[in-house]
Amino acid sequence: MARVLFINGGSEGHINPTIGVVQELISRGEEVVYFCIEAYRERMEKTGASVRTFDDQKFIKAFISGGRNYLLERINGLLLTADVVIPSVLEQIEGEQFDYIIHDSMFGCGRLLAQMLKLPAVSSCTSFAQTQDSFDQILEPFFTNTPAEIVQPIHDRFQSLTAGVKDKYGVEIGSPYEVFCNPAPLTLVYTTREFQPGGEAFDSTYKFVGPSISSRFTQDTGLLTEIEGKQPIYISLGTVFNQAIDFYKLCFEAFGHTEHTVVLSIGSRTSISDLGEIPANFIVKNYVPQTDVLQHTQLFITHGGMNSTHEGLYYGVPLVVIPQSADQPIIAGQVAKIGAGVKLQMESLTAEQLREAADQVLSQSSFRQAAARMGESLRKSGGYRQAVDEIFEFKG
Ligand code: UDP
Repeated sequence: MARVLFINGGSEGHINPTIGVVQELISRGEEVVYFCIEAYRERMEKTGASVRTFDDQKFIKAFISGGRNYLLERINGLLLTADVVIPSVLEQIEGEQFDYIIHDSMFGCGRLLAQMLKLPAVSSCTSFAQTQDSFDQILEPFFTNTPAEIVQPIHDRFQSLTAGVKDKYGVEIGSPYEVFCNPAPLTLVYTTREFQPGGEAFDSTYKFVGPSISSRFTQDTGLLTEIEGKQPIYISLGTVFNQAIDFYKLCFEAFGHTEHTVVLSIGSRTSISDLGEIPANFIVKNYVPQTDVLQHTQLFITHGGMNSTHEGLYYGVPLVVIPQSADQPIIAGQVAKIGAGVKLQMESLTAEQLREAADQVLSQSSFRQAAARMGESLRKSGGYRQAVDEIFEFKG
């Protein structure tokens, strides 16, 4: 039995794929100490892990204070979280021994902690993976196309933050890539190599284990009873970029009073009462047990989050993807490329366009067939069991 230190941050999309991994580790005899924000304590405790938390308000404040407009600002934000996460983790594990660390590929300063604690490290990558080259290509335009008076202070801040980390924690940071992607000797990526853009560029330290979908210990079975046999259209913009009242009303306009049953998840920051009159064929919730709902769904209208997209395809559900931000446009492009759905632009979207896209995906069987093929390949890739096989091979 080994002791595992698991470092994560505070976002649903980064937490969910780790549930199955942690449960599987524990079922094979490992002991897991799991760090995240308080909001995910209950969910992670159900896996059998010992959960410890750091201050979520301070964490989010630090991350946002890096700035939101440019990638290098977000990297600075991640560096600013070091002073929230690292002292808290060190204090809470004082005197304990661990055999290896698994850390998120973005949040939680896992790469820094791995070096400080001198532990073999595994990175848990819940988005598409990046090589140093592909990442540099994304970052490069910032240096070449942005006015120097914007670039300079952001870059200076990066330099002073990395110098500060070296001073305080004794760890050298080689590049923005290291901060944003937390590379490790083993990286688990929750997709297939075929679906990963430029998949062939990744060496054998990247293991494409497929989506890690496991029970979320859902209590709410009422909704599932309600939709049974109805094959609803399911709509969600995920848990981050989801404050979109106009879009939700546009969905009412597109699908209200049609023969479809529509399940709409609006997220926790919008109040259902702010949506006005809800058409009788809609079921609107702040949060739904998504992986359960998808098993009944005939069409998923999604923002193209990495998890949502994989969860939909895993169950063979064709997609209409309306990317909001982050890596979502790339994911949407991959979905369109394999023929499992269509991509729409959020900007200037009309109810008619949305209805037409839905009709197209529902009426042309090629979309369903491509989604089913993809689902088969995702299910075959092994998910959390494969992830733990790879971890065990790595730890030797
Ligand atoms: N999710 C859920 N119920 C909801 C909305 C979202 O269970 O009502 C889950 C979904 O299954 C997925 C995660 O939240 O695992 C969202 O992650 P994703 O990467 O799709 O998008 P993000 O929220 O990070 O933008």
